[in-house]
Amino acid sequence: MTSGRRRYAVVAVAVFASAAIWGCGGSPTSPAPAPAPLKRVLVVTHTAGFRHSSIPIAETTIRDIGTRNGLFATEFCRTAEDVQARLTTDGLRGFDAVFFANTTGNLGIPDMAAFLDWIRAGHGFLGAHSASDTYHDSIEFLTMLGGEFNTHGAIAPGDIRVDDASDPSVAHLAPRFTITDELYRFDRNRRADVHALLSMDRVPDDGVGAAGAPADLLMAWRRDYGSGRVFYTALGHREEVWQDPRFQQHLLGGLRWALGP
Ligand SMILES: [Zn+2]
Repeated sequence: MTSGRRRYAVVAVAVFASAAIWGCGGSPTSPAPAPAPLKRVLVVTHTAGFRHSSIPIAETTIRDIGTRNGLFATEFCRTAEDVQARLTTDGLRGFDAVFFANTTGNLGIPDMAAFLDWIRAGHGFLGAHSASDTYHDSIEFLTMLGGEFNTHGAIAPGDIRVDDASDPSVAHLAPRFTITDELYRFDRNRRADVHALLSMDRVPDDGVGAAGAPADLLMAWRRDYGSGRVFYTALGHREEVWQDPRFQQHLLGGLRWALGP
């Protein structure tokens, strides 16, 4: 028994040594490069108005996108107290981006000008769905975001068009695709102020306006904001949308871009 075990150990060492020499394509003496440090994303889900039931799945979806891709670590800002403490210059230190996931209303950011300055200084801001139903009383916030929610109808299939197939947040999508969600309308068309990513060129059949009529309804965009990067998608009302791999890839592309090099 003893000699058999020893023979097995010798063979195992020889195989291991061979793998070390030939296994990885590099010199066995050069250390593996250290992985890039993870970025940090603060996900804000505090609501001062309507609260979407999809918020828990939104939180886990964003966190899992960061983990699965080795891209970022996620922390959460869920309450009025969290907002007071974290959406400040001190509280944001060390974060690369904030993500407003279905926030609503006036969140109570202590100093909006300082918060917007933080984005302008070269950080990322991402918003999904009712991020545009947030801070209707702050022109500065809405200008940064690039749109203000106005109304929506019934949940309906949206016939969505890709506006810029070269953008990584929408490059994986068919040039036209259908997704069922609550389809937001905005205060006005701001195509000139943003880099459009997704839009609808017909009014959807959701009870708002004449279904099928020609239109230009933006659904996702990005924009530069000083040295910062802002990404917004109007999708994300339904749990099923957050679980849709197409939507998750959309968010991944937006996050990669907003997080910067
Ligand atoms: Zn909604």
